[in-house]
Amino acid sequence: MQQAKHNKKVTGKILQVAVPAPLYTTFDYLSPETVRDKVPPPGSRVRVPFGRRTQIGIVLANADHSDVPGDKLKAVQATLDSEPVLPAALLKLLKWAANYYQHPLGEVIHSAMPALLRKGKAATIKGPTLWRVNTAINSTETPLKRAPRQQQLLNLLQQHEQGLTDEQLNQRLEHWRPTMKTMLAKGLVVKSVLPCITDPVQAEAGPKLNPQQQSIIDTIISQAAGYQAHLVHGITGSGKTEIYIALAQRAINANKQVLVLVPEISLTPQLTARFRTRLGVRTALLHSGLNDGERLCAWSSAAHNQAHLVIGTRSAVFTPMPQLGLIIIDEEHDGSYKQQDGFRYNARDLALVRAQQTDIPVVMGSATPSLETLHNAYSRRYQLHTLSQRAGSSQSPRIELLNLCRQKLQHGLSPKLLQALDKHLNHRGQVLLFLNRRGYSPLLMCHECGWTTSCQRCDAHMTYHKSQHLLRCHHCGTEAPVPAHCSDCGNTELISIGAGTERIEQYLQSLYPDTRIERIDRDTTRRKGSLDAKLEQARSGNARILVGTQMLAKGHDFPNVTLVGVIDTDQGLYSGDFRAAEHLAQLITQVAGRAGRAEKPGEVLIQTHHPDHPLLQTLLHQGYDGFAHAALAEREQAGFPPYRHLALLRCEALKVELALAFMESARDCLGDSDAVDLFGPLPAPMEKRAGRYRFQLILQSSQRQALHRLLRPWTLALTQLKTSNKVRWSIDVDPYDTY
Ligand code: ADP
Ligand code: ZN
Ligand code: ZN
Repeated sequence: MQQAKHNKKVTGKILQVAVPAPLYTTFDYLSPETVRDKVPPPGSRVRVPFGRRTQIGIVLANADHSDVPGDKLKAVQATLDSEPVLPAALLKLLKWAANYYQHPLGEVIHSAMPALLRKGKAATIKGPTLWRVNTAINSTETPLKRAPRQQQLLNLLQQHEQGLTDEQLNQRLEHWRPTMKTMLAKGLVVKSVLPCITDPVQAEAGPKLNPQQQSIIDTIISQAAGYQAHLVHGITGSGKTEIYIALAQRAINANKQVLVLVPEISLTPQLTARFRTRLGVRTALLHSGLNDGERLCAWSSAAHNQAHLVIGTRSAVFTPMPQLGLIIIDEEHDGSYKQQDGFRYNARDLALVRAQQTDIPVVMGSATPSLETLHNAYSRRYQLHTLSQRAGSSQSPRIELLNLCRQKLQHGLSPKLLQALDKHLNHRGQVLLFLNRRGYSPLLMCHECGWTTSCQRCDAHMTYHKSQHLLRCHHCGTEAPVPAHCSDCGNTELISIGAGTERIEQYLQSLYPDTRIERIDRDTTRRKGSLDAKLEQARSGNARILVGTQMLAKGHDFPNVTLVGVIDTDQGLYSGDFRAAEHLAQLITQVAGRAGRAEKPGEVLIQTHHPDHPLLQTLLHQGYDGFAHAALAEREQAGFPPYRHLALLRCEALKVELALAFMESARDCLGDSDAVDLFGPLPAPMEKRAGRYRFQLILQSSQRQALHRLLRPWTLALTQLKTSNKVRWSIDVDPYDTY
């Protein structure tokens, strides 16, 4: 057909460009080589016309010809880099990820780049600029009466002794730059560049490794060079971090870079500090708390081999590291490695792919490895290393189930737990109470007719936040005033059903008015620095009682905790999600690991209405390993991962009919395969959320290849469906949960 139109195919100087758009194709552009004679290499950024706008795209390849007719081909407007910002190795990983997770490559690439690069800024290593008052000049001597803008800026800087960065100034004042320039020339202010990576320091010595640790390290380093996946399965406090540090040290001594992935940096400041002080090398931290300038700087330092150690959360798996020699994944089971919207990747899994592509070792560690990872270890795809004892002198805690049946509970706490709490406080112990529910109570109920505070926009109750005096839906964020009476019968007696962390804290404070209690959950740690302050109170032992959500279960070292109470396990025992049991077992094991870390022996009490539940019994008597074997057998029977692979099509719309219409046509355009089972469309477990109706289609197969063979054409077909732009839909490969 094209020939019939006499369109000549263009040859030479064609660039294939990925553009950040929800489209599963790349686009051809004419190279600007006629203007400058260098063709932009793959991995470099170009500015291109796209629709009615311009976009920043990444060159994927240089080609000799294009199938697009010559008169339709547009030219690149500008080349932004002479060197690739995305090295070939990283591009390869991103292409793999886009293909595997069925997400448009342009968007995948975009989400892997620091914001400033996406906006077209130069790829510099320079840290953010910091402006401060020049303290050498006494500003009262130089009145700025005639220069009100200068005076204003000066006042602002005087309020911030530490200085303000460009970004912080932008947030506070408009058009401050010309004024600042004048003041800089007058010497009223000083300008400096903040380093974004830490300087090398004298490395501190660590403890002498015990024989178990040493033998694991020896085994790992005795392997032939190249890809090898290791799992260090060791209880909390068994010295896994010391193993990471020793292996990282070795890689760094061989002039290699080391990437350490952690679930959440803000939750584990001690871990990062420990890596830095022990290794002493230039370190870049990549986490969500960075501003754009800091992020670009840290990213570029890694890309130019200036930072030898990179510690980061999920997206740090995409940091360019030319000399990468080792990847460490701490707490590999943690759910925060999975991105839950947009490009839904799992950073742990991508780190394994990256290690394979780079042909280097990867070391995962956890006290409670995920069932997928354990399965891979049991089937010898990963090497399993076990640390069975605590590293220091501490002993493992005693665990006991507390039967709640027919017990009179005080705000969710049983008499036995309260007695134990009293005993430990009297013996100068520290108590940690764990409850994965914030707020005062999960709902209010009318004592007359049973009416409850439900969210108008979700199939869920609104949580009562007593101290803030409001109701809040934890699913959509809707807030409402606390009702004075029942909206059905008008009765004014509304009672709190169930307990959240706030309620436990208040009750215990009334029992122990002189005891310091710290509540650690998302409500009490919103302000910057408040989490650190609370953790410090917890570590020092000043806070005698700690009440918290899963934020408390993650990796913290509280040496004085002697009693851990798990307030509610029944939620996890009877949830519909296939991972619920695994999560509960991990949680119990992790919080139990917080007890008795120093010389004081610990005690763990678990409240439940189902003390005979096989999961709890197995966990108690055979430990996490025993649980894992049983749970894996169950997964195999039920046809869940890791035995069968899952992909989920999710869809939500303001009207049920729209969502269902899309899901039905989606089902109809799925190809046929004997190896893939299809379930649905089914309503999501929470059918309505934030005013939208939600449905899902579940694909299940024991053969990954077969699943992906169907997914690829299906994704394209879905974008073509007429109903597709009336709904929000997404494909989730290896979903973390089915909600
Ligand atoms: P994990 O990472 O498994 O939780 P860590 O490496 O953090 O364990 O070790 C727990 C505690 O024991 C830390 O305070 C650490 O300094 C200490 N520790 C680790 N290995 C040893 C050792 N071989 N000798 C003495 N103390 C150790
Ligand atoms: Zn809601
Ligand atoms: Zn009522």
